[in-house]
Amino acid sequence: MKYSGFRVVAEALFGHKGWKPLWRDPDPKPAYDFVIVGGGGHGLATAYYLAKTFAEKRIAVLEKRWLGSGNIGRNTTIIRSNYLLPGNEPFYEFSMKLWEGLEQDLNFNAMVSQRGILNLIHSDAQRDAYRRRGNAMLLAGADAQLLDREAVRRMYPYLNFDNARFPIKGGLLQARAGTARHDGVAWGYARGADLRGVDIIQNCEVTGFQIEGGKVVGVETSRGPIKAKKCGVCVAGSSSRVMEKAGMRLPIESHVIQAFVSEGLKPTINGVITFGAGHFYISQSDKGGLVFGGDLDGYNTYAQRGNLPVVEDVARCGMALMPAIGRARLLRNWGGIMDMSMDGSPIIDRTPIEGLYFNGGWCYGGFKATPASGYAFAHLLSTDAPHPTAAAYRLDRFARGYLIDEKGAGAQPNLH
Ligand SMILES: Cc1cc2nc3c(=O)[nH]c(=O)nc-3n(C[C@H](O)[C@H](O)[C@H](O)COP(=O)(O)OP(=O)(O)OC[C@H]3O[C@@H](n4cnc5c(N)ncnc54)[C@H](O)[C@@H]3O)c2cc1C
Repeated sequence: MKYSGFRVVAEALFGHKGWKPLWRDPDPKPAYDFVIVGGGGHGLATAYYLAKTFAEKRIAVLEKRWLGSGNIGRNTTIIRSNYLLPGNEPFYEFSMKLWEGLEQDLNFNAMVSQRGILNLIHSDAQRDAYRRRGNAMLLAGADAQLLDREAVRRMYPYLNFDNARFPIKGGLLQARAGTARHDGVAWGYARGADLRGVDIIQNCEVTGFQIEGGKVVGVETSRGPIKAKKCGVCVAGSSSRVMEKAGMRLPIESHVIQAFVSEGLKPTINGVITFGAGHFYISQSDKGGLVFGGDLDGYNTYAQRGNLPVVEDVARCGMALMPAIGRARLLRNWGGIMDMSMDGSPIIDRTPIEGLYFNGGWCYGGFKATPASGYAFAHLLSTDAPHPTAAAYRLDRFARGYLIDEKGAGAQPNLH
């Protein structure tokens, strides 16, 4: 079924009886050419591009719970390509371009909204660093604008410009950045993949890999064994646990990060704002809730919930940036498990086991990467060659010392 305005009107006239489920609910087949483990954003996007762009057939996505139960349905929906390093910026800009055409491509409303992201500057040294980042973005074909204090004040007059510790001195604006409805993205990719014959199998946990002579030949699942010629793992926060079943130890730690949503307010924040003096970012959803978040909780965990010290820290950052936020009531908060790599950058690569491919290490920035990650992983799975924009995301870069340390924090995952 093709979605359009005419379809909505026609369905309204006939009692909305013609809408179909977005994807089928098939039983697993005994064998596939490609098995994708993990039905989050990256797994679904990989299956979609494998079928659509690379014309591959016999593809299954195996998801241990329901679609959207992982980070794809838990993130704060920010999409952007404001990176500095050559290993990262072209990849995220490729993703941004895919976002810009995504809804037409999927024929699905993912509420992609290019409302802009503003990174605030609080010191002269930070202005130098952001100017450098903006120039790197422009060189990679992205957009960037350095704003002075008065230009920021015109956009957001209620921010605390004269905070004694963190005065606002300007900002780096990427106007093409913004937000997208996170679960809409999962549903759109799932529908697009299903339409092209991909079997999306929920409640199907991968419990082991069948490996013969150094080659993967299938997976064990909670719904029985499934043969596979190639197997791609996209399980985000569960990466270490799943790859351990193939005997691999990853340069990844799992940490929890929380998100917060206030009660609905009148339109207040047009775009996304990030505080430059602490880890805090905020936007406003179309329903009016302020959506914000901050740092990781700072300890290793597989729990999808956080603790109170970070709630306090996030509230303090919010108050330092925008004192009016103290009047808003918090409606809900939740946590998600982050696959924090040692340098803060992702991995899209083959593994030493033939036919087994790995996609992970997205830290808390993998939502914006969903289209490019799916595309690049599908490219790797289909052609056995890395996509040019993802060529640096090698698993062996940690051993070779070619780190992509965007933040300059060193090998300490909780600081990226
Ligand atoms: C609070 C929060 C805020 C965030 N904010 C942003 C943001 O603003 N912008 C941004 O770019 N990124 C953000 N992120 C990060 C982003 O959400 C993730 O990096 C990204 O969603 C991870 O990829 P995914 O969608 O494939 O993950 P998931 O949706 O987590 O998909 C992985 C799937 O694998 C499944 N799985 C696990 N083990 C198995 C198994 N054994 N067998 C089968 N299936 C299995 C899981 O159930 C899960 O559904 C945020 C994350 C959180 C939690």
